[in-house]
Amino acid sequence: MSATYNFCAGPAMLPTPVMAKAQAEFINWQDNGCSVMELSHRSKVFMQLAAKAEADLRSLMNIPANYKVLFMHGGGRGQFSAVPHNLLPEGGKADYVISGSWSKAAAKEAANYGEINTVEVVTKTDESQTVLAPADWALSKDAAYVHYCPNETVDGIEIFDIPETGDIPLVADMSSTIMSREIDVSRFGLIYAGAQKNIGPSGLTIVIVREDLLGNARLTTPSVLNYQLAASNDSMYNTPPTFAWYLAGLVFEWLTELGGVKAIEQVNKEKAALLYDYIDSNNFYVNNIDSQYRSLMNVPFWLTDESLNDAFLAEAEQAGLLALKGHRSVGGMRASIYNAMPLAGVQALVDFMTDFADRNK
Ligand code: PMP
Repeated sequence: MSATYNFCAGPAMLPTPVMAKAQAEFINWQDNGCSVMELSHRSKVFMQLAAKAEADLRSLMNIPANYKVLFMHGGGRGQFSAVPHNLLPEGGKADYVISGSWSKAAAKEAANYGEINTVEVVTKTDESQTVLAPADWALSKDAAYVHYCPNETVDGIEIFDIPETGDIPLVADMSSTIMSREIDVSRFGLIYAGAQKNIGPSGLTIVIVREDLLGNARLTTPSVLNYQLAASNDSMYNTPPTFAWYLAGLVFEWLTELGGVKAIEQVNKEKAALLYDYIDSNNFYVNNIDSQYRSLMNVPFWLTDESLNDAFLAEAEQAGLLALKGHRSVGGMRASIYNAMPLAGVQALVDFMTDFADRNK
């Protein structure tokens, strides 16, 4: 079988060497006589694995010592509830910056817990989409926190500048951008990310939280969403998603060997440039997002003649290019090109798009 490349937005492709390693040690992990998924999370060997994964993530992201790293359940949407539960006092207010469908969903969930001030930052016309620069966002002076989503997985919008919020904690949904480029963790109060894009399989959610923000959960907060409980129990208050934690550990080792986030950022920029430059070079395909705000990870594009969509998708699949259908809310196509997608995969996509355009002009 020739190479296939999976452009799914999530659960996304994982690095091939990681999958091969997991396969090789699937049944008997490190001579323990059982699979890693059959071990107690409290066994010494698993605790070592867990600590190593955390240490590797800390070093990959350069996470300062006054931040806790939590390995939780519940995905991105679980955090849509966990964040207000832990950071929004009864009767308090939070700012939610709306840059696309995931930040909108986060704001909707948070509105169940208090007053939410939404700050719209995207301007759309039929021809173009742009984003207000973070320095110009109309944020409140008295918010308990400011929430934003630096990379909108569905819309293909990425905000590269980090907003300056002074003493107000900045909370970021980094589900689809974590570890894709270097970020200064110390600028954030809290970062969360579902694992199923750049970290590992679904079922695991990473939370990176500044210690002084712990201990403020509401009385009604479910224990499994309580950051303080998770932190004081080393993320083992309840049984963590052990296999996903193990696989995330393998991904962290893989990325470290490649040279870390700085090295993968270069590859990610090269991949994105290859695809956007091609899209911009012709009238057959379009991406109408302001070039300063184009996502490095999720590239939506539209065929000018939408009647060719079905043929495009069917032929792409035959060529081994999988899961290119755009999200139902925006239509068209979307290529998700997370860390595990090699440059060769993007090149194969561009070659296919070129050939398809030549045959259908
Ligand atoms: N936030 C972002 C940016 C996402 O891309 C997603 C999932 N695609 C979510 C939140 C929701 O994640 P989950 O399905 O893990 O709840």
